[in-house]
Amino acid sequence: MIALLWLLGCAPKAPPPAPDVPHALTILHTNDIHAHFEPAPAEWLDGHPAIGGFVRLEQEVRALRAARGAPQTLTLDGGDQLTGTPITEINADGSFGGAMHGFLDAIHYDAWVVGNHEFDKGLDNLTHYVENHPVLPLSCNLLRLGSTLPLLPRQEPSHVFAIAGMRVGVIGVTTQELGGLMKGSEFGRLTLLPEIPAVQAEVDRLDPVTDLIVVLSHIGVDNDKALASAVKGIDLIVGAHSHTRLTAAIQVGDTYIVQAGSYNRSLGVVDLVEQDDHITSFHYELHDLLPDTATVPPDPKLEGMVATYKAEIDHVYGEHVSDAPALLGRSYNHESPLGRWITDGIRDRTGVDIALYNAGGLRADIDAGPVSRLTLFQCFPFQNPVMRFQLTGAQIAGMVALNVTAETDEKSGFLSTSGLSWTWRKSGGVPTVVSVLVDGQPLDPARTYAIAANSYVTEQWQKHLGPDAKPQNVEPLGYTDLDVAVDYARKKPVVDPGNVRAVLLP
Ligand SMILES: [Zn+2]
Repeated sequence: MIALLWLLGCAPKAPPPAPDVPHALTILHTNDIHAHFEPAPAEWLDGHPAIGGFVRLEQEVRALRAARGAPQTLTLDGGDQLTGTPITEINADGSFGGAMHGFLDAIHYDAWVVGNHEFDKGLDNLTHYVENHPVLPLSCNLLRLGSTLPLLPRQEPSHVFAIAGMRVGVIGVTTQELGGLMKGSEFGRLTLLPEIPAVQAEVDRLDPVTDLIVVLSHIGVDNDKALASAVKGIDLIVGAHSHTRLTAAIQVGDTYIVQAGSYNRSLGVVDLVEQDDHITSFHYELHDLLPDTATVPPDPKLEGMVATYKAEIDHVYGEHVSDAPALLGRSYNHESPLGRWITDGIRDRTGVDIALYNAGGLRADIDAGPVSRLTLFQCFPFQNPVMRFQLTGAQIAGMVALNVTAETDEKSGFLSTSGLSWTWRKSGGVPTVVSVLVDGQPLDPARTYAIAANSYVTEQWQKHLGPDAKPQNVEPLGYTDLDVAVDYARKKPVVDPGNVRAVLLP
């Protein structure tokens, strides 16, 4: 009867909704920890001091939770927890890298988003990584093959946290470049949806039942900006993947974007006030985790965990293999001392005409001082098999043309080379190759050359070698890039070989 009266317009009018009260919330966030459980060098600070690590991170989180009131805080990680130190070579709690999740559990994170490097030890390993730990994995676009179900156990596309008197929807999204970033055979085992429509669908679903929408994104800061423009209704994007140290939030329309660098060295701290479905006050700070700025004592349990893993790693990786008289740095867009050194090492070991190594595979600089197996592991943590294959001179010319373009486009990585050199110039802003030499002789377009590279280059050959340079007669040589690095370092001190390969003409 009441329903009928309502339909007829006879029911008493519902009172207008009471005005919402302001709700304060603090979001603490990290991203791209990459297995860095101990302090790591902060290259943006004078003298590159080692900062951060889980002990120091936990101190900062504990102090902030106490200051804000624990129920008022949400602690999130933006993914790429794995690969970067040998801690992911240890099987802990049923998976390689399980130790990393152990730390996140101990710090009581609320949720994290699955990054591309979580797949480095394969999908089966990631499944065990996720199922043995309580912190909630999110991703709205990673699905089981040919299904609409989440890929991983316990994974949710999004989760609504009832916290600080409001409903906070947190949506996870994983980079749609995943296919180009992981092993092809493993990528064939899942379904990946495009980022923007997948997030839009979750926002549409959550908007009516939440007061605040946060996207926990592993897509990189440029794609975060595109996402904020394309999808209305996102209040905050907590970012990752591009390793961007944002010391101030970016604003796109009504959406804030934050990101906390990489390697467990900084904590992002967002303090916001929500009222009537909108952020009415927003404050963001990036806290660099300097050793001497902690305001609470270290947690003995975490100190013990770090010491245990450190001892296990030192036992295997502590061996002193060489010395570096000076820093060997790396670069993503340009030729670098470390890129020259590893490609010279690969050519020395294999005897090929040309050795190659991709920029994204160079993960740490070699500092001046003693060089241990651990030092080299941190440079080449993926332990890719070294592959031998063939390319024609014409294909190599195309590859060099791609490589000079990389020097003027910060998104494309530079392919380090040994045995191959070239001159180039910027004619009217356009990078142009002038001459190409192999072992000092002009490149012969008709000849077939012997090449060696880490397997990432051959697996992702379209990206690194160019669309016309499919490697021929690919064969694994039975050892990894890390094996090459260790053996080459044993032979002689680790120094920049010089002998510049990419010469920019005036
Ligand atoms: Zn990533």
